[in-house]
Amino acid sequence: MDADEQIQLLLNDDRLSDDLKNIARKVSNQQRITFDEGVLLFEKGELAYLGVLANYIRNKRHGDKTYFNRNFHIEPTNLCVYDCKFCSYSRLIKQRSEGWEYTMEEMLDIVKKYDNEPVTEVHIVGGVLPQYDMPFYAELFSRIKEHRPELHVKALTPVEYHYIFKKAKVDYATGMAAMKAAGLESMPGGGAEIFHPEIREQIAKDKCTADQWLDIHREWHKLGMRSNATMLYGHIEQYWHRVDHMERLRQLQDETGGFQTFIPLKFRNQDNQMSHVPESSVIEDLRNYAVARIYLDNFDHVKAYWAMISRTTAQLSLNFGVDDIDGTLDDTTKIYSMAGAEEQHPAMSTKELVQLIKNAGRQPIERDTLYNVVTDYTNYEFPEETKPQFYKLPVVN
Ligand code: SF4
Repeated sequence: MDADEQIQLLLNDDRLSDDLKNIARKVSNQQRITFDEGVLLFEKGELAYLGVLANYIRNKRHGDKTYFNRNFHIEPTNLCVYDCKFCSYSRLIKQRSEGWEYTMEEMLDIVKKYDNEPVTEVHIVGGVLPQYDMPFYAELFSRIKEHRPELHVKALTPVEYHYIFKKAKVDYATGMAAMKAAGLESMPGGGAEIFHPEIREQIAKDKCTADQWLDIHREWHKLGMRSNATMLYGHIEQYWHRVDHMERLRQLQDETGGFQTFIPLKFRNQDNQMSHVPESSVIEDLRNYAVARIYLDNFDHVKAYWAMISRTTAQLSLNFGVDDIDGTLDDTTKIYSMAGAEEQHPAMSTKELVQLIKNAGRQPIERDTLYNVVTDYTNYEFPEETKPQFYKLPVVN
C-alpha cells in the first residue's frame, strides 16, 4: 500500500477521533497545522497514525530519496566556559587537565589528513573557550579555504558566535558578514536545545538566549546563506515546549527561508549533570521525528544522526519523516559517544551506509552540504574489495 492509500484509510477510519482525522485531512490537503494541533499530535497521536502522516509528507517531497553526505568533524576543544546541564563538556563536569584544546596548526593538520578523501564538508563545532575568538576563527576558515577551496566550511553555532562577537564588540550583522568573508559557508543547527525560557533557564541558562540564537540565524540568512536547526528533546520539557520550539523555527523560516534541515537530537544522560533524568524510548524518538515532519511544513529536510540513535532506529526513522541520515563519518566526533550514544566508535563507510538505506527500501543519494546531488547510489555497484596481499618475508636467523 502506498502513502496515498494509507492516508485514505486513516480518513475513512471510524475509530479515529474527529480532531485527529481533521489533522490527517489537513496533511492530505497540504495545509498547515496549528500550535494546538501540534500538541494534540504529541498527546494523542499513536505511532502508526503519526507514521502514516509523516511518511506521506516525506514521500510527497522526496519519494524514496534518502540523503547523506561525506564529511569530517573538527572539535576545537572539549572544554567549555558554559555550564549546560546536559553536556559533558561543561566546566563543572570537566577539569582543564582532562580536555583537549587544539591549536590552529593542529586543526589544519586534521584538514590535511583528508586531502585524498572524497569528503565535501568540514563540520566544526565544540566547546567555548576565550582563546577561540573572532580573529582566530576568521583565520582558521580562511586558511582551510586557501588549502582546499572546494571543501565546504560548516562551522560554529550562535552559542560561539554570540560569545565571540560580544568579545569583539561587533553586532551580529557585522560579525556574520565578517565570517562569510573569511570563508564560512553554512551554519550547523546546534545550540538551540529548547527555546522556551522555562526550560532553557534550567538546562542552559548562561549561553545565548532563544532570541539571540534566532537573530544570528536571521542575519546569516539575510546574507543569502543557509543553516540548520536542532532541538534537544526527551528530558524535562513537556510536549508544548517542543511545539513552541518548532513554532519559533517555523516563523523564522516563513520570514527568511534560510533553513535547510531540522535535526531532532535525543537527550542522552551519561556523564552529565542530568544523569538522573531517564531517556526517551525508541517509540518516542520515532513519534518526535514524525511530529516534526508534520509541523515544520516549510522545512525541506528532517535528519537523523545514526551515531546518536543507532543504525536500526535510523533505518526505522526513514518511515517517520526522516529523509537524511548523517552521514559517513569516522571517529572525529566525540560529542555523541561522550554523552552515552549507542555508537561509541561511530564509523560507517559509504558502502555500509548505502546498504543500510537500501535495506530500508529507500534510494541512497550522496549530497553536498546544499543538497546538490553528488552521486545517486540506487544502481551503483561498488568495486570488489581488494584481497589482502601476502608477501614472503626474509628468514632472519
Ligand atoms: S552544550 Fe555547548 S555551550 Fe553548553 S556546555 Fe556544552 S559545549 Fe558548552
